[in-house]
Amino acid sequence: MSDAAHDYLIALGSNVRHVRHGAPERVLSAAVDAVAELAEVMTLSRVVRSRPLGPSLREYANAALVLRTDCEPEDLLEALQSIERSFGRKRRGSAWSARTLDLDIVLWSGGSWCTPHITIPHPEFRRRTFVLGPAAQVAPNWRDPISNLTLLQLDHRLRDQAA
Ligand code: ADP
Ligand code: MG
Repeated sequence: MSDAAHDYLIALGSNVRHVRHGAPERVLSAAVDAVAELAEVMTLSRVVRSRPLGPSLREYANAALVLRTDCEPEDLLEALQSIERSFGRKRRGSAWSARTLDLDIVLWSGGSWCTPHITIPHPEFRRRTFVLGPAAQVAPNWRDPISNLTLLQLDHRLRDQAA
């Protein structure tokens, strides 16, 4: 492994059947295969189902993985967006619209990164149980550089708030 290797925590989500892959869980497992073509997948969570947020009526399937790659954040995001497109993701419509596949960069080993196209840590991840649950499975001790809490602590905090 080269010195320039970075670890990234990626959140995966789907709430639409794919014409070839089928149900959202199957979409995610095919997406993991696609990600594994471009980077080394270190750990992979189980798939969790969650009720939809916003007006979409479909259930979501979510998962998280840690990958290792030499790519800088911009290049990785471009590669992930190209996988999204290959699954038929359309970028029209509201943020809550149906989506075959969503791939977000949640954290990376380089800490914080902010450009007009990309913000790491992902600004919403601390409020989303469907991101934090799988994320805490694959990297419980990874520390969010903004809150300085681990993923396990963030997940517990959010579940306590929701209780
Ligand atoms: P969301 O994932 O927030 O529901 P989209 O997947 O449509 O919405 O992403 C919208 C934009 O968010 C993308 O075009 C991308 O440039 C930007 N973005 C900013 N930070 C990130 C990140 N950490 N991971 C993925 N996309 C990001
Ligand atoms: Mg996204």
